[in-house]
Amino acid sequence: MSCPNCHADVETFVDEYQFNIEYDREFLGTPKIVQCQTCQLCYCSPMPDNEKLHDFYASIYRSKGRSHWFDQNYPPPPQMRHKSYISTLTSYIKPSDINLIYEIGPGPGEIGSLWKEVAPHATIKCSELDQFSSSTLKARGYQMVSSSTEIENQADVVMGLHCLEHFSDIDYFFELVENAVKPNGLVLVEVPNCPFNRGYKGRTYDSPHLLFFTQETLQNMFESRGYEVLSSTTEGASFKKQFHLAQIWKNLFGNWTPDQPHQSGANRIVSLLKQTIRRSLPSQVFEGLRIIIKGKNIQTDDEYYIHNLPDSWLIRILAKKK
Ligand SMILES: [Zn+2]
Repeated sequence: MSCPNCHADVETFVDEYQFNIEYDREFLGTPKIVQCQTCQLCYCSPMPDNEKLHDFYASIYRSKGRSHWFDQNYPPPPQMRHKSYISTLTSYIKPSDINLIYEIGPGPGEIGSLWKEVAPHATIKCSELDQFSSSTLKARGYQMVSSSTEIENQADVVMGLHCLEHFSDIDYFFELVENAVKPNGLVLVEVPNCPFNRGYKGRTYDSPHLLFFTQETLQNMFESRGYEVLSSTTEGASFKKQFHLAQIWKNLFGNWTPDQPHQSGANRIVSLLKQTIRRSLPSQVFEGLRIIIKGKNIQTDDEYYIHNLPDSWLIRILAKKK
């Protein structure tokens, strides 16, 4: 296949694709990870079928018993990570100047509840395939758009946080951005940091990610599309810690199937514990326990005030539309 970034067609083998949840082969196929010899981006080859990918994110990705499932009565609250996005953005734009925000793939929209406090006058719109998140997004003030063209290049800020790496088509991701962002508007993207030749090869799994960036390939992708990169940083926990916590996730959820969503005994215990202690503990204590039990929020607060550690597992880019 041709490179999803630069469309060149010389690719070399990097590694076999590792699954988190085996069942997801039904939707993602059995790709290999390859590297484009022109722009150096690593990606899945072949890419999954578009319709299957759409179905996967609409009805499988956050379904019950899986790692990204959440109880709609108790949607996940914003963490320090979400606060740090606001911190990055408001270094470049005053909250009072933000009138329209567009978020691609917000999931349950943790950052939306923060925007309500930081820029209460702002409208926040989003595109999200996941059917399980829609009521939570509405409650958090998001307006769903059926097409990004509805934004009519009026967005002061466009965000794609832990989202771009799930796309099979980079041009489509940029179409969403381009339809929304206004001239000189800001685009904030965060993706996993995947330097296969500098420590990433020991990762626990890949699925369902399809694109694997480094700081260089992510920055080049923006610049080759006419954006000015205002800031490019690495963020978050070390690879070692991230891989360890990913292994806990794989142990908990790796055997998930739609017929037996609670196949794993550990998984069932997590659900029961959640229900029991959620009501009886202050939220901070509950969050602490959740991190220990489930490893879901792998960052501690401490990891979100330091930028640019050499082996941090995330890359964050803030770019400006010229
Ligand atoms: Zn390429």
